[in-house]
Amino acid sequence: MDKDGVAAFKQLVESAPILFYVADKNLKFTYINPFFSKIHNISQQEVVGLHISKVIGIDGFNGNLKHYNEVLTGETVKFNTSFMKLDGNPHHCYAIYEPLMEEGEVIGFTGVVIDTTAEHELDRLSKTDLLTQLSNRREYEYDLANILAGDIRLNYGMLILDIDFFKKINDQLGHDIGDNALIKLSKLLEDIIEFPSKVFRIGGEEFAIILSDLKGEDELRKRADYICEKVASSVIVAEKNMTVSIGAILFKAGDDRSLILKKADIALYTSKNNGRNQVHVSNSN
Ligand code: GH3
Ligand code: MG
Ligand code: MG
Repeated sequence: MDKDGVAAFKQLVESAPILFYVADKNLKFTYINPFFSKIHNISQQEVVGLHISKVIGIDGFNGNLKHYNEVLTGETVKFNTSFMKLDGNPHHCYAIYEPLMEEGEVIGFTGVVIDTTAEHELDRLSKTDLLTQLSNRREYEYDLANILAGDIRLNYGMLILDIDFFKKINDQLGHDIGDNALIKLSKLLEDIIEFPSKVFRIGGEEFAIILSDLKGEDELRKRADYICEKVASSVIVAEKNMTVSIGAILFKAGDDRSLILKKADIALYTSKNNGRNQVHVSNSN
């Protein structure tokens, strides 16, 4: 390549909104492009001779270690990854490592890293309820569809929770206190519910919980009762007793989506009619 060609290549690498870097076989940087410098907040001069772990942080380094070892054996490596940067912000990326060879020996490697953090953040936001940070209705529909198309041997529980007399809380204490109650209730539910079971805010003061790996209706009833009692005994609004009514149903893959939701809704309505602050489990047959 002639001098003009090299200058053009340098210009491409220096102007691209893509992280480019070169590291030696001791995992020390020999070059980063300006975009890398911006993302990791370190100058191009300062980085030369620094170990990768010092620049991207030990978590990112450890996560990538097997890929570094692989590229140093002469393999090309491509992968998606995410880690916390040294500034505490998440970094999601797609990376391609190519070995750098000299006289048949690997002397280091080049890294091309495409930052996918913005896409990840958009994806996260599209699934998250803004007020409570719980998974939103869209995510609920998505998860439910996946479960219904999944393993027929597993039992799930669908709980629909609706706050009792929530309008009164808003009317008597104001909308901000109402919002705060929704946030507090969400935190409480998140503390009770363990992955892979999941909590969603599916409407204004309406929540859904999908319980995974249930043995049967007895367990569903026990778990739903526990949640109902836990809400009633917790201080969510100062000097007020806030409760929820719950409609519950056992379901599994292959069941009819609208029938599950209809029965869960009727069960909720029964809990409300029977005096609120209680659970009604729908017959799943
Ligand atoms: P019930 O026991 O029958 O459920 O009575 P309720 O008062 O909870 O039921 P209703 O459906 O009449 O009222 C729900 C209230 O929830 C009305 C609305 O103002 C309030 N709400 C819905 N979304 C929000 C929100 O995001 N923030 C606040 N503060 N209030 C909300
Ligand atoms: Mg309601
Ligand atoms: Mg309500």
